[in-house]
Amino acid sequence: MQLPYKIRFNEPPEGKKAVAYMQQAIKEKHICGDGAFTHKCHKWLEKQTGTAKCLLTTSCTHALEMAALLCDIQAGDEVIMPSYTFVSTADAFVLRGAKIVFVDIRPDTMNIDERLIEAAITERTRAIVVVHYAGVGCEMDKIMELARRFQLRVVEDAAQGIMSTYKGKPLGTIGDFGCLSFHETKNFSMGEGGALLIRDPAHIAEAEILREKGTDRSRFFRGQVDKYTWQSKGSSYLPSDINAAYLYAQLEEAATIQAKRLSRWQEYYQRLTPIAERGMIELPMVPESCVHNAHMFYIKANDREERDLLIKYLKDKGILAVFHYIPLHSSPAGKEHGRFHGVDKYTTKESEKLLRLPMFHQLTAAQVKYVTGTIAEFFDNM
Ligand SMILES: *Cc1c(COP(=O)(O)O)cnc(C)c1O
Repeated sequence: MQLPYKIRFNEPPEGKKAVAYMQQAIKEKHICGDGAFTHKCHKWLEKQTGTAKCLLTTSCTHALEMAALLCDIQAGDEVIMPSYTFVSTADAFVLRGAKIVFVDIRPDTMNIDERLIEAAITERTRAIVVVHYAGVGCEMDKIMELARRFQLRVVEDAAQGIMSTYKGKPLGTIGDFGCLSFHETKNFSMGEGGALLIRDPAHIAEAEILREKGTDRSRFFRGQVDKYTWQSKGSSYLPSDINAAYLYAQLEEAATIQAKRLSRWQEYYQRLTPIAERGMIELPMVPESCVHNAHMFYIKANDREERDLLIKYLKDKGILAVFHYIPLHSSPAGKEHGRFHGVDKYTTKESEKLLRLPMFHQLTAAQVKYVTGTIAEFFDNM
């Protein structure tokens, strides 16, 4: 029998004006891409991040595909990334024929270990793809220095990183290209959707053409050309304006939504500290250089067995808590398209200990208290 969870793992975010804005898009008879709401989202994201250009996409996966195309990745090129990530980080580059070179993560942040990247660089390396896990930034100064020295592109998978910063810079704006996700599991959502952030204005024209089926339709709509034609390779990466309308309603309330998430995150941290001090669990670490966005609250148990027992215990008490990525290098496609450089010291071991607790902006302080109380109960009974 399916248990009716008292506390879900995630509830999709919804802005107060979501339905009104979607109706407005329908009434104005502009429901395809690049309508008024897409434009509002672009402006909001450009202002918030300070990036040269933002383009909404149909997913973060598609933003990553656009980034791979803009990096001009060719068959046989090597791309360095962590193995502890979502499949799309690798898939976007595999679609271009790249070989994926996985590098171990740091156990404290679960991000790529910047100290291990240089040894993985070969004459075929073209790009470094970083993933800002849980909205906590990678060590970007070191990574950008390597990229400059070896003339590599840097793509930031900032799917979880909206409104987070590294040394004051918004995640997704530091590398050549940044990819955001607006999937329903992220801080802000349009159901399925994402955005590409472009740092260097020199790439804007090519990105617009790629996103519009290889045509210069964007320039046509701005009145810069009097007809639009097929210019080069491309696909269809622009979302419907109905989805953008749903997203825009949340962006207007971004400060409130973020404040709520951050409060819940702090409450988790405070209530779990005594259990961490007893050595039963580990709590997330946020480096001094980073401001995070409360995308996720995870804990680590001592090992996989204990983690799985805790998942079951919480489930029996009506709480859905979940583990995360199965390292890509251990998957069938990861084995076919990639190799792990060096030793997997932390990727597998740390991923097996990790447990994500319910986190969404509608979560209440009372629910956090119930979840943390149940975790305490589990360890008291052990
Ligand atoms: C969610 C996520 C993605 C994929 O985002 P979509 O918008 O669903 O394509 C990619 N990478 C990471 C790290 C993610 O968390």
